[in-house]
Amino acid sequence: MSEQGPSLAAVTADTAVPSLAPVPPGGRGRPGGCSAPGGASRGLSWPELEGLVRLQAASLSAPPAGRAGLTGGGSDARGRCLVCRGPSDGRARCFQCELHEQCAAGSLADVVVPVAYAVKGGSHARRLWQYKSPGPAAAAAAVLLRALLLVFLRDHRACVCRAAGMPAGPTHLAVVPTARSRPGQHPLRALLAPYLSCRWAHLVARPVPWRGRDLDPARFEAAPLPGARVLLLDDTWTTGASAQSAAMALRRAGARRVATVILGRHVGRAGVTAPPAGFGPRELPFQPGTCAVHAGPG
Ligand SMILES: [Zn+2]
Ligand SMILES: [Zn+2]
Repeated sequence: MSEQGPSLAAVTADTAVPSLAPVPPGGRGRPGGCSAPGGASRGLSWPELEGLVRLQAASLSAPPAGRAGLTGGGSDARGRCLVCRGPSDGRARCFQCELHEQCAAGSLADVVVPVAYAVKGGSHARRLWQYKSPGPAAAAAAVLLRALLLVFLRDHRACVCRAAGMPAGPTHLAVVPTARSRPGQHPLRALLAPYLSCRWAHLVARPVPWRGRDLDPARFEAAPLPGARVLLLDDTWTTGASAQSAAMALRRAGARRVATVILGRHVGRAGVTAPPAGFGPRELPFQPGTCAVHAGPG
């Protein structure tokens, strides 16, 4: 179950990382904006975090750069959904994203950016499960996932925000709540909160009956967010129903823009061992210097 390469034994889950400003540099102290964390923190340096990304990079696959389709049109050449970048059987959107569009066009996230694919049976999918499960592998999985997301947000936050029509950056962060309310902070928020100083939107799961994988505007509830620009984070996208229901709740609360970043876009059907061809590290290698909506320097 362990990664190949350098040992992670020396890395602890509570090791601090450098300050990260999930907003443009001009956002510091701006009213209504996000501010960069203050004070020095002890622990891993950015080069060390980048090392942790390199450690897992060879086992990751990710959507290649390309903004095509964010405004409509056909699917890309390899049959990836233009919304979630998952398998789309040659259509513009996968079945679920098409359904969401038909049900709730205009209420969904402005952009969805998976950091990587969580290929069924692969190490990234395993870590996304391990980090929030009890067990000895949880801490190492958490350290790797946190490094991956922090470095991604440092390097590609501007691409994501530009693609979402919020070039000035987010005013709020949010994490998609777990469907079944559980006590305590969401594991992803607990992982990131010490290192992201942007304000967190109040977004909670409502005590409504569990409706499985359906898009459900009543599933989540957010405190008023008039005119907000929200960077919405989630660990895994399977059907997208949770993340898109959360985006709907944020919009209902007044958010003007919602950009969704997903650590792993699930690929592979339950009960089917082999993932769809074309989504593995060999076909779509993860490249830290680019992202699905990469806009390049400037
Ligand atoms: Zn899709
Ligand atoms: Zn980018």
